[in-house]
Order: sequence, then C-alpha cells, then structure tokens
Amino acid sequence: MALLERAAWYDIARATNWTPRYVTESELFPDLMSGAQGIPMASWETYDEPYKTSYPEYVRIQREKDAGAYSVKEALERSRMFEDADPGWLSILKAHYGAIALGEYAAMSAEARMVRFGRAPGMRNMATFGMLDENRHGQLQLYFPHDYCPKDRQFDWAHKAYHTNAWGAIAARSAFDDLFMSRSAIEIAVMLTFAFETGFTNMQFLGLAANAAEAGDFTFASLISSIQTDESRHAQIGGPALQILIANGRKEHAQKLVDVAIARAWRLFCLLTGSSMDYATPLVHRKQSFKEFMREWIVGQFERTLIDLGLDLPWYWEQIVSEFDYQHHAYQLAIWFWRPTVWWNPAAGITPECRDWLEEKYPGWNDTFGKVWDVIIDNLLAGKPELTVPETLPIVCNMSQLPICAIPGNGWNVKDYSLDYNGRTYHFNSEIDRWVFQQDPVRYRNHLALVDRLLAGQIQPPDLRGALKYMELAPGEIGDDAHHYAWVKAYCDKLYEEKAA
Ligand code: MN
Ligand code: MN
Repeated sequence: MALLERAAWYDIARATNWTPRYVTESELFPDLMSGAQGIPMASWETYDEPYKTSYPEYVRIQREKDAGAYSVKEALERSRMFEDADPGWLSILKAHYGAIALGEYAAMSAEARMVRFGRAPGMRNMATFGMLDENRHGQLQLYFPHDYCPKDRQFDWAHKAYHTNAWGAIAARSAFDDLFMSRSAIEIAVMLTFAFETGFTNMQFLGLAANAAEAGDFTFASLISSIQTDESRHAQIGGPALQILIANGRKEHAQKLVDVAIARAWRLFCLLTGSSMDYATPLVHRKQSFKEFMREWIVGQFERTLIDLGLDLPWYWEQIVSEFDYQHHAYQLAIWFWRPTVWWNPAAGITPECRDWLEEKYPGWNDTFGKVWDVIIDNLLAGKPELTVPETLPIVCNMSQLPICAIPGNGWNVKDYSLDYNGRTYHFNSEIDRWVFQQDPVRYRNHLALVDRLLAGQIQPPDLRGALKYMELAPGEIGDDAHHYAWVKAYCDKLYEEKAA
C-alpha cells in the first residue's frame, strides 16, 4: 500500500479544533487551565510547531534511543565504574537523581496539561510526545540508580527524595510546583519549556554529559545524552506560544512569566550545577568553570533567544550575571557544612590545587570564601571535627527555599531582603526572590520554609537530630564528606613542613 509523505497529510490531520455544541468554549477550555489570556481560538490556530513528527516516527526513534541507553548500561554492567570513580562523581550522580528523577514525572503531568488544555492543535500534538518523553526518561533515571542501591543506599533517594521533607527536596518541589505543576497550559509552555528547558535543562544536561564522559562514566553519559535529545525537542513548544502572546499584545504578561521562571530556575541550577562543576568534579576532569559555562550558554546563547523572540532581558539580568561570581560558592559552603542533611556525600573540593584553580577562575576567592574554609581546615587539623558540623538550621529564603547566603570574608555582602505582608515577615536571598513573591503573593504566602516549620514546632526535637528525623535521613543515608576528609592531609603536611622549616 502506498503511503503519503507526512508533509502531505500533517496539516489536515492535526486540525483537531472544533466548535463545541453541548458546552461553551470557556467550559471546554477554562482560561484558568488554558492560560489563553482571552486570545481567540483562531489566533492560537496559527501556532506553528517547529518540530513535526508522526506517532510511528516518534515511536521508532524513541525505541532506538531506549535500546541504545539500556544496551550501553548492560554492556558496562561489569565495569568497575562504581568502585573506581572518584567519590565526588558518585555524589554528583546521587544529587542529580534525587533532585531530577521524580521531577521528570512532574513534568509529565505538566505536558499532559498542555495536551488537554492547549488551545493550539500543534501544541497539543507536541505535548503528547513531550509527555511520553518525560515518562520515558523519568523511568530511565529511576532504573539506572536502582542497580546501585545494594551497594549504597543513598542511591535509593532517586525515588525517595521527593517523598520527603529534606531541604533539597522542598526546594525542588517548590520551584517545580511553581513553574509547572500549578500553572495553565500556556504558562507551562512559557515557564517550563521555554524558560526552564531551553534556558537551563539543555545546559545542565550538555554539561553533565561532557563531565560524565570525562569521568569515565559512559553509562551516565549515554543516559544523559538520551534525555537531552528528548528535552531539546519538546523544549520547542514554548517559542511559538510566546510569539502568539506577543503578537496579540500580551508581551508584558509573557515577559513576567519568563522573568519569574528564569529567577526560580537559576537558584536550583546554581545549587546543583554550580557545586557539581566547580567542586565535586575532580580537578583533572574540569574543562570549564561554572561561570565560564554560564557565560557561554546563558549569556551567549539564551540571551540571544530572548531578544530574537521580541522579549527583553529580565530586569534583574545584570544582578544574575554578577551572581555567577559568587552564589554557587556560597551554596557549596552551605551544602558541605550542612552535609548531614543531604542524601549524598558532598565533596569539599578544597585541596590546595583546587584552591589555586578557584582563585584563578574567580579572582579573590581566597580572600572571601577561602577565609571560611580556612576556619574549617584549622578545626579539622586541630582534631575538632565537631566544630565543622551544624547544630541548627540556616535562615532559609522564602522563595528559593535555600539558605540565605552570599559572599563572606572580605567581600561581605550577605543580606536578608525581608518583606512584611499580611502580618508575616518573609525573608529572601535577594531583591529578585522578593520581587517574584510580590508578583503573586497569594500564590506564595502560605508556604512554610523549613525554618518556619521549625519555629511552628513541626520539627521535634527542635535541633539537628529532630531535623534529620523530619527529613527522613536514616543512618547510611546521612551525608558526610565524600573523601572522608583525606583532602585535609595536604594541609597537615603543609603545616608540618612549615613547622620543620
Ligand atoms: Mn525531562
Ligand atoms: Mn522536559
């Protein structure tokens, strides 16, 4: 039987809008769910998805991708990657799986909302495939770490993290709830697929795939590349939706969605990718600093995408670019210091050689962040490790749910950006986080950050022990220094040499 070329039938086949007779259009597509902003159906029908595929084509390609990823995994099953890898690399894997795997399932729900409530037929088509994408690579990211569970139960957090109140899980849920779980179809197209996926996911996944190959973890490299091809395709859902919003006089609305989404995505990636690239990745495997990477991908590429679409740079752009210099260093300190409260073993990344690298990439590092590490190292050398672990919780930002922190030492710029709203005082890490809250206070006002919960008596006893119980971190899961403090020895030798001389 002769088959028509896809191009010959695609436009007709996807013309699936009709005029409802038994319900009104607003009942079929409530604005709350569609986010259509009152733009009529006819305008949404001009939506032209940049990537066109049919179901048989989609399934064939996805099947090949799955076969590729699973067969690489199987082939390398007996390799000694797990035993031979630097512990810092294993920590990157654990942090990634816990923070991302169930987020993929959440993204599947978001795609499903676009499937049902998207006003443009092409958007509904793309989102159907997007939904299948998220399901496929969500499962990959649960299946792959599952094999490591018998060796190391921290890998169990690939599945467990989102079901707990670990602070990292609260932060990830808060951002993802805001960006796509509690949003309309069009908001999801803009905030998830355009801002988050085009802007940040691509970056995280390309960077991670390169690092994985460098670290000799070819299983993870192939897994990540497989996911990346899904993401880069369905990330294209947002662009045409933005074009329709802008062409119909809704630029201000679109801009605000983009600005909120970038602000929230940045914090999460800064924490995860920043600490991975500049600290947990072994020095010999580092190709680029996080700052260089951000400059190339966010400033060099994403900035142009925004402008080309007719949007402006977010009002806080300069501030965020300046944060490339310091925010992730502050988060790294927070992660390492509060290491009992994370589901992976944070790598300090603070050997003398690492410090030289940090000083070279971030001039002034020794004078600021280095000062704090000096105290930690002194305490470890003095045999007082108890002074390097926390007794209580840090002040947490009511937007990012991450510790409020910035530059310590000689560049001190830490500040609590607070806001009084309806009799409650909220605390923010920056003007940007506070601005996000002010855009929609009703959306955010009732959320309790971890410290709010402590003060409300939800964490008992109200100390680190109670917090670990609250976060469901069991023995064997509680984080500790990835290298068992072996890196401190270099400073011990140095001290000895200095004394001897
Ligand atoms: Mn995904
Ligand atoms: Mn996605």
